Amino acid sequence: MNERIGYAGVYYAAQDMHHLGDVRARGRSMIRTIVFDWGDTVMRVFPEFSGPMAHWPKVEAVPGVEHALRTASQRYLLVLASNAADSGPDLVRDALERVGLERYFGEVVTARDLGAAKPDPRFFKAVLRTVGCQPQEAIMVGDHFETDIAGAKEVGLWTIWFNPNGKALPAHGEGKADAIIPSYKELDNALMMIESRAHMARPTTL
Ligand SMILES: [Mg+2]
Repeated sequence: MNERIGYAGVYYAAQDMHHLGDVRARGRSMIRTIVFDWGDTVMRVFPEFSGPMAHWPKVEAVPGVEHALRTASQRYLLVLASNAADSGPDLVRDALERVGLERYFGEVVTARDLGAAKPDPRFFKAVLRTVGCQPQEAIMVGDHFETDIAGAKEVGLWTIWFNPNGKALPAHGEGKADAIIPSYKELDNALMMIESRAHMARPTTL
């Protein structure tokens, strides 16, 4: 294991990682749900196509996401939450099925059925209501800083910014992403880091 693992200012020491493994091993996870954005977080968006992605001539998963979802789905409830205007949950599931990812999501919700779109706090609150989960028990993973990360942070979710193109942190973006990952290889490390912080943020009974 690297002595220090991290990206863009998010670093955690190797000894912390051992502690995190311990938190997990003891089943004391404070995190129950991971909410994924859809476009360019789970499936690629091809700007040349329009209409529902399920009907596009070509669809493609984001590199590395299948392994990440398979691993994470063994531990957490995975939710796909999209701003898609052209697809409701059934069409999103059809598109996911085409790349073999549908099975990993316990819930699929879209702006169409929730009646609000990211970054509107009502969107994230509706997602949490759907799965019966508190904000501090959920992590949002998304590629769009303003809609996915800033929006979710405002409601109190943990946030992981999927930033494969190395975009600069936007002005006033400080503190909104709990972790920034350049690829899905880093997702598990980011989850462990957040697990540890969530565990430590827990109230102590004396
Ligand atoms: Mg996106």
